[in-house]
This record gives sequence, C-alpha cells and structure tokens, in this order.
Amino acid sequence: MPDIKIKMELIKTLLALGKSQHPDEFLALLKVNNGVIDEFELAPGTITGRTSASFSQYMLPLSTNNAGSAHSHPSGALRPSDADLRFFPASGRWHIIVGPPYDLTSWRCFRADGRIAEPEVIS
Ligand SMILES: [Zn+2]
Repeated sequence: MPDIKIKMELIKTLLALGKSQHPDEFLALLKVNNGVIDEFELAPGTITGRTSASFSQYMLPLSTNNAGSAHSHPSGALRPSDADLRFFPASGRWHIIVGPPYDLTSWRCFRADGRIAEPEVIS
C-alpha cells in the first residue's frame, strides 16, 4: 500500500512553479480529493524575497481537504529544515519539497514528522 497518491500533473506543476520562482521560494497548500493529492493553492504572501521567511507567519486558510504543503528549497537540499518540521504538523500529513534542477527527480514527499514518504504517483 502506498502512503498516499499524488497526481503526476500536480508534481509537474509544482516543479514548474519552483523553477519560475527560483531563486525565491514558494509555499503552497496541498488539497486531497478522494484520496488523491491533485490540487494546491498558493499560501497568501508566499512569493517573498530571497530571504527565507518562516512559515509560522503565514495565515493558513482553514479547509477540510487540506493534505499538507509544498514548497521549494532553491538551495537544492531536499530535506525539511528545522522551521519546516515545526510547520509541517500544523498544515497536514504530507509535505512536498522541490529543488533545482526542478526535474522529476528533484522532489521528495515527507510525513509531518519529517520521515520520507513513498507516495504513489498516478497519471
Ligand atoms: Zn523548507
């Protein structure tokens, strides 16, 4: 059993978003529908300057289908930072980090506690 299902199109869109924002970060909230993460919305005020902002300052919209978050690490480190680990549990169970070169190998999915997850990517 895979941990969670993620739509391939969503992954591609997040990678493209990361690339377009580079060297800035983006932060998006993931939505799950019928057991598949297939949608996201950008967190308000997420497109920031080069300085990495702490997630805790964002107002998170309340939604019943929140699945977690996705954001970019322009540094290319595909692992959660200490700030990420504090933020993850507040926004859902699944958290995607993308980084350069923003291709299909440069993303990871994590659980709220920072452990790597193994999602099933579906078309
Ligand atoms: Zn991060």
